Amino acid sequence: MLPSSMAILQRSVTDLKGVGSQLAAKLANLQIKTIQDVLFHLPTKYVDRTRIHSIATVRLNDTVVVEGSVTKVSVVPKPKRSLTVKITDGSGDITLKFFHFNMQQQAQFKQNVRVRCFGQIKAFRNGLQIIHPEYKVILDDAIVPVEEHLTPIYASCDGVSQNLLRNLVRQSLAIINPIAESLELLPVSVCRNLNFISWHETLQLLHAPPPDLDVVNLQKRMAFEELLAQHLILKQKRQALAEQTAYALSADNTFLPVLLEKLPFALTAAQTRVINTISVDMQSSHPMVRLVQGDVGSGKTLVAVAAALQAIAGGKQVAFMAPTEILAEQHWRNISKLCQHLKISVSLLTGKMAAKEKQKTSHALGSGQDKFIIGTHALLQDNVVFKDLALVIIDEQHRFGVDQRLTLRNKGMQPHQLILTATPIPRTLAMTFHADMDYAVIDELPPGRKPIETVLVNSDRRTEILQRIRNLVQSGQQVYWVCTIIEQSEVLDCTPAEQAWQDLCLALPDLKIGLLHGRMKSQEKDQVMQEFSNGNTNVLVATTVIEVGVDVPNASLMVIENPERLGLAQLHQLRGRVGRGNAQSYCVLLYKTPLSERSIERLKFLRDSNDGFAIAEFDLQMRGPGEFLGTKQSGVAQMRIADLVRDRELLPRVSAVGEVISQDYPELIPKLIRRWIRDQVQYAVV
Ligand code: ADP
Ligand code: MG
Repeated sequence: MLPSSMAILQRSVTDLKGVGSQLAAKLANLQIKTIQDVLFHLPTKYVDRTRIHSIATVRLNDTVVVEGSVTKVSVVPKPKRSLTVKITDGSGDITLKFFHFNMQQQAQFKQNVRVRCFGQIKAFRNGLQIIHPEYKVILDDAIVPVEEHLTPIYASCDGVSQNLLRNLVRQSLAIINPIAESLELLPVSVCRNLNFISWHETLQLLHAPPPDLDVVNLQKRMAFEELLAQHLILKQKRQALAEQTAYALSADNTFLPVLLEKLPFALTAAQTRVINTISVDMQSSHPMVRLVQGDVGSGKTLVAVAAALQAIAGGKQVAFMAPTEILAEQHWRNISKLCQHLKISVSLLTGKMAAKEKQKTSHALGSGQDKFIIGTHALLQDNVVFKDLALVIIDEQHRFGVDQRLTLRNKGMQPHQLILTATPIPRTLAMTFHADMDYAVIDELPPGRKPIETVLVNSDRRTEILQRIRNLVQSGQQVYWVCTIIEQSEVLDCTPAEQAWQDLCLALPDLKIGLLHGRMKSQEKDQVMQEFSNGNTNVLVATTVIEVGVDVPNASLMVIENPERLGLAQLHQLRGRVGRGNAQSYCVLLYKTPLSERSIERLKFLRDSNDGFAIAEFDLQMRGPGEFLGTKQSGVAQMRIADLVRDRELLPRVSAVGEVISQDYPELIPKLIRRWIRDQVQYAVV
């Protein structure tokens, strides 16, 4: 049971005066359904109506209050009929202009009448004007007080006025006023340490701050609490998982040593370390949930295979899910080869397989005959059942939603989960927002990899680039040409990738040029990829569909057109498609001028850095966290107030306070979660 004071916050907005079902529906568009939602609908900005400015001191575009007496009133017929009222306050004069007005209004503005008005200052001939100001005629010597607080401006929608929102906030604050203390969820010691004032006071001030108050700190206090709630629910999820029982799988001494023996190279130290960590995880009778991050080419696949072998050695089943058919098949081919000596058969399940084949595979999985299945989303279908699925591996995690991961997991009895990603997750984010997973990093590339050399080239040097492609192809190498624009042009009758392909075919008539884009059927895609992979095509023109995982060591040049359209992390991932063989590899960022300074700065950073983490950090500052976390999928994006980028310096303190709360104030956890987490189902651990 919720304490009743907390329940007040969850009361419907229709409990507020003046809110009927129609208005409630409009408010729902603003995500406002409860009294608490009203309170959390923070102003996006404020205007200052707390003092009257002297006309001489106002500047263009200021939004201010001025007051003066009328010196001249006229109706100007041109260019558009308007009522203009000139007022002076002794320091200067200003013109008020109304395009919509009536006789009554006109009559109000008598000579020498005092008018107080509010609006934005614009230029007018040689002077200043306010168009359609809010105004009040002040009669005789009446003393009319100015506002005491800054006036909040809220995000709004049709049919919901600022005044209405202000009124709802006032009512809501009045309702919680008597119970304010009971609504505090941060311990006093935490507030003191972080210099936070109470929750209630913070909200009051945010909705009506005195002039000159720094609201940033108040907003941080709210954001902090929200981030804390997010952190705590993830921790809770992980604890719940730790109480579940999984297959305890002994370390594999059967297959792995044989596999390593046959490999033409030695594992890197980082691979060995992560393989061992995972092995220990899976020996536990509680389910592992481990996220392994490794830059492109760091050899994550082998780490996954080692984990798979441990499950198979224990007689159990493994499902390995990849986001595209190209990638699933590539994994299947490579892994089948690795497993040949081990006499382990690896099966494949993708959407394009014939129904009969699929059925056969499903059957072999259901009976437990097949131990190792690699596939795409096709694995998620209801008719795919396992006998005893002990390990789920997800490749390129950011391409899947949480729900998809859970669907696959639920095909076993709490299978271990291994999640692979090339996307570097800044440490602070990992600590807070992957608190539901363990985290390991493969922080080393196999030896002998030459760093990719990246250059920025203006598109007016295209001919040079084409010549370079000719030379490279002559020496037997291959080239990716990536087209980042996806929307169809209105002028051209084809997609930009098709256009780029046509252009290249014309410019390089002797070369074999393939085309790969997202709208092709998967069978076509595979064929094109296969041709490139076999070396039958010299140049592959592609959209970003080649972003994930594809491995063609003979490709040593990648040209990316309009690179500014992509995030740095994505560009880094793309460029990782080259530099996989022995040749020195290059990435050409082919940009068109004009390019904003910001874009240039970003691209230069990418050019100068090969460090996925540094790139991710930089991108996080410049762009936003979406692409790191797949935030929509992990629920993080649905935050009410916090913003992972803006508030990221709070994150280390969030996990520290999370510890304190878990240790000393566990009773606060459900309350914080209840207050802040909208969609708790997403986090459910069943
Ligand atoms: P990613 O981490 O991007 O998934 P992959 O697992 O596809 O990387 O590995 C990239 C390439 O590096 C593959 O061709 C793989 O065989 C090779 N590789 C993996 N580990 C090593 C190693 N320790 N030494 C040399 N090459 C390796
Ligand atoms: Mg990979």
